[in-house]
Amino acid sequence: MNQGKTYLVTSLDLSRKIASCYVADLKYYTKSRDNTDIHVIGSKYAYRPQLSNIQFSRTPARGDPCKVTATWLGYHCVSRGSNEIMETVDHVLPKYSYESQAVWVPVPQSVKEAVIMKDLNFRAGQHAASHVVLNVVPLRIICNLSDLAPECIDPEYTRYYPERILLYDRHPGGSGVSVQVQPIFMELLIAALELLTSCRCSEHGGCPNCLQSFACKEYNEGEVKRKLSDQESESGTSTRKFQKYKRCGDEQMK
Ligand SMILES: [Zn+2]
Ligand SMILES: [Zn+2]
Repeated sequence: MNQGKTYLVTSLDLSRKIASCYVADLKYYTKSRDNTDIHVIGSKYAYRPQLSNIQFSRTPARGDPCKVTATWLGYHCVSRGSNEIMETVDHVLPKYSYESQAVWVPVPQSVKEAVIMKDLNFRAGQHAASHVVLNVVPLRIICNLSDLAPECIDPEYTRYYPERILLYDRHPGGSGVSVQVQPIFMELLIAALELLTSCRCSEHGGCPNCLQSFACKEYNEGEVKRKLSDQESESGTSTRKFQKYKRCGDEQMK
C-alpha cells in the first residue's frame, strides 16, 4: 500500500533494486515482519576509553557508535476492514545494516525488579519508555522526530535484549542528534515523565503526542498508559524515573 492505494507486486529484482507492481483493488495490505538489532560498539567496556570532553558530563547516559541490522522474516497479509491477519508468509531477503550513532541509558536492576513485582511486562515498559523519550527530544533539540528511532522490542520475543532505553540516528553514519542528546538524556527522562502525566489522552492507547511513535517497528499497537513510578537516579541527584507499559499488539491481533 502506498498513499492509500494498493499495489500487487509481481516481481522483485534484488540485484537491480527494482520491484514491478501494478495498481490492484485488494482487500488486504501487507505488513513486513522484521527484527532490527542495534549493536552498540564498545558497550561492554567496564571502563571506557575517553573519547571527548563530553565523557566528563555527570550522566549515566552514553553516546556510542552502533551498528543497526534489519533482518527480514516475511510479511503478514492484513485485512483492510478488520485489521486481522489473514495470512503469514515467510521469505528470505538479504540483511540490511549500516553504522550510526546511539544514545542510551542502562535500566537499573532495581527498576526491573519493581516492575516484575507488580506483575507487569518489563520489556513492554522498556519499549514504551523509549517511545516517550523520543517524543520529548524536539522540545530541547532542533531536530525532526524522523532523525531518531527508538529501540523497539516485541515483548513476546524470548530472545535476548539488553536492558536499556536507547535512541539511535536513523540515517547511516549518524546525523549528530544522538550526540546532542547524550548530555541531557536524564533531563529528557524527567520531561518524558511530565509529558506522560500531563497528556490528556486516554489511558488505553496513548497518543502520538506522548506514547506513540511513527518510527515504531511494532506499529504502536495495543499501547497502554498504566503506571508511573518513583525515584532516584544514577547520577547522584534525585531524579524521578518512570515506567510505562504496553501490551503486545500481536496478542490482540491473534
Ligand atoms: Zn497522550
Ligand atoms: Zn516501538
